[in-house]
Amino acid sequence: MKEKSARVRGVYIGLGSNIEGPALQIQNAIIALNKIPGIKVLMDSGCFKSKPMGPKDQPDYLNAVVEIETALDAEALLASCQKIEQLQGRIKKRHWGERTIDLDILLYADQIITRKDLTVPHPGICSRDFVYMPLLKINPELQVPGKGMLKNIVESASEIESDFACQFVGNVE
Ligand code: ATP
Ligand code: CA
Ligand code: CA
Repeated sequence: MKEKSARVRGVYIGLGSNIEGPALQIQNAIIALNKIPGIKVLMDSGCFKSKPMGPKDQPDYLNAVVEIETALDAEALLASCQKIEQLQGRIKKRHWGERTIDLDILLYADQIITRKDLTVPHPGICSRDFVYMPLLKINPELQVPGKGMLKNIVESASEIESDFACQFVGNVE
């Protein structure tokens, strides 16, 4: 009998959109993720609204985080995320500029990855409110490999570098 691939849990993907119907873009990306063989979406954070991180002359963002279970390794997962970005018409015009959809690997279980094309945990986890708020909503006890408990890191930070006025706005449609 063929052995089933081991599924890794504790994998979190961050999603963000600020053009062409952000709520639908996020919903469609979650559906697309769940359809990929070897990915199962376990939970979502709901939607959070936030101010843009990059150029200010762009619409506000809608962000969400999903927890998945996956048989893909981190590199294959990144390729799948980028494929969904392409399918949803992501065009890069400027750094941190407007996008139909952005998918970032925030955490891949307890792995620490420092490759040219992939940094995990994602560097924005502890400093961007639109990342740590949805993460903590899914898992208040979340551990960041090499750093400790996310809620403690966020609480003890004397100044949060990035405050994007993030607030919960409702469930994923
Ligand atoms: P940021 O990474 O600061 O949130 P961004 O999401 O706008 O900015 P992108 O243009 O979407 O940046 O991605 C640039 C590159 O980041 C990608 O080509 C990818 O190889 C690399 N990358 C590194 N680490 C990650 C990660 N954890 N998840 C997704 N992409 C990553
Ligand atoms: Ca991003
Ligand atoms: Ca990205």
